[in-house]
Amino acid sequence: MRIDRIETFVLQAPLPSAARFYSSQGFFARRSSLLVCVTTDAGLCGWGESGVSMPVAHLATYIHEVLAERLLGRDPLETEPIWHELYSFSRDFGRKGACIDAMSGLDTALWDIRGREAGKPIHALLGGAYRDRVTAYATGFYYAEGDLQDPAAAVDRVRLEAEGHREAGFRAMKAKIGLLPFADDLARLEALRETAGDNTLLMADANHAYHRATARRVGGVLDDLGFHWFEEPVVPEDVAGCAALRRALRVAIASGECEYTRWGMLDLLRSGAVDILQPDVSACGGISETQKIVALATAHHTPVCLHVWGSAVAFAAALQVTASIPPIPHTAAPRPGDNEPLFEFDRTANPLRDLLIDGGFRLRDGSLDIPDGPGLGIDVRRETLDRFTVSRRVSSG
Ligand code: CA
Repeated sequence: MRIDRIETFVLQAPLPSAARFYSSQGFFARRSSLLVCVTTDAGLCGWGESGVSMPVAHLATYIHEVLAERLLGRDPLETEPIWHELYSFSRDFGRKGACIDAMSGLDTALWDIRGREAGKPIHALLGGAYRDRVTAYATGFYYAEGDLQDPAAAVDRVRLEAEGHREAGFRAMKAKIGLLPFADDLARLEALRETAGDNTLLMADANHAYHRATARRVGGVLDDLGFHWFEEPVVPEDVAGCAALRRALRVAIASGECEYTRWGMLDLLRSGAVDILQPDVSACGGISETQKIVALATAHHTPVCLHVWGSAVAFAAALQVTASIPPIPHTAAPRPGDNEPLFEFDRTANPLRDLLIDGGFRLRDGSLDIPDGPGLGIDVRRETLDRFTVSRRVSSG
C-alpha cells in the first residue's frame, strides 16, 4: 500500500455575533481548522487535523510544498520511520510550533488509515482500551464583548452558564480567567463555586495571562475555593516559574497545550512544573508522539488529561488516545479527575465539531462514548466539509 494523494482543507466557520467570545489572549469571531486527508493506492482515506490553535494557511503551504514529496509513494503503515524522517528533516528550524503542528495532522491521518486497514479502532492498535467512556468536563465561562465595561453582568452570566452545564449533566467545569482585573475575576470564580456547588469539580484556565506574583495571588483564591486545577497560570516559557508556583500552592497545576513533542514535555515533567500534563494530539506531534508522551508521563507519575480543541477530527483523535491512557496510578476503581482522565468538551459554538459527523458526539450522564469503529471511528460529512472549506489543495504522486 502506498500514499497516493494528500489533500488539505482550510475550514472556516464564522460565528454569529452572540456566539463570539474572548479568552485572556484574544477575540474569537470564527472557528477555523486545517483538515488533512491522506489517500492510498488501495483507496483508503485517513483524516487528521492540524492548526487547532493557530492560523492554518501556512500549515497547508508547508504540507504541500515541503512535506508532501517526502510522503507520496511511502507505505502509510510505516508511521514510526515517517515520523522520524519528517522530524529529523525539520529539526534545525522547527522543533516546536508550526512544523510539528503540520506533522500532527499527517500522523493522525496515517493512524486513521492503519485502523481502517485493520478494521479496528485506533485505541485497539495502541494496545487496547482502559475505558469505553470518559468523564467530560465543560470548558466555558469565556468573556463576552462588554465584560470589561460591565463586570457585574459577567458574574450573572457565569451563574447562568453554570446552571446550564449542570442541567446538561456535567459534574466538572472549567472557567476562563485572566482577562478582567483580579477583583472582577475573583467575583466570577466565587459565583461559579456558589452556583456549581461543592460536589462539582472546578478548574480555572488563565491561558498564561499572569506573571508570577499575580499567579500566586490567583492560585491562593483557587486554593480557598477548592478548585481542582489551575491551568497555564504563566507563559509556557516560564517553566521555572510554573514549578515554583506548583510548590507554593495546593491546587494542582495543569499545562502542556503550548508544548510540543516528547522533548518539550520531558522538560515540563523533569522540571516538576506540572501535576497534570495536557498535550494536544493535533499539535504536539500526532498520535505516534502522544503515545510516547503518555509513556513519559507515567514514568514521572503525572496524570494526562489531553487538551482538546478544533473540529470533530481532532476531537475523535483525542478520544482514541484517551482510551489508551492508563489510570495513573492504578486503583481498582479509578476516580475521574484524580487517577482517571477527564476529557475537555468545549461548550462554545463550534459547527466544525458538531456538524462534521452525523449525530455529533453525545454526552450521557456527563460522559462521552469513545467511538469503536475503524480508525478514528468517525466519517467526515462531505456536505459539511464543502460548506466550510475556504481553500483546498491536493498533492498527488
Ligand atoms: Ca487551556
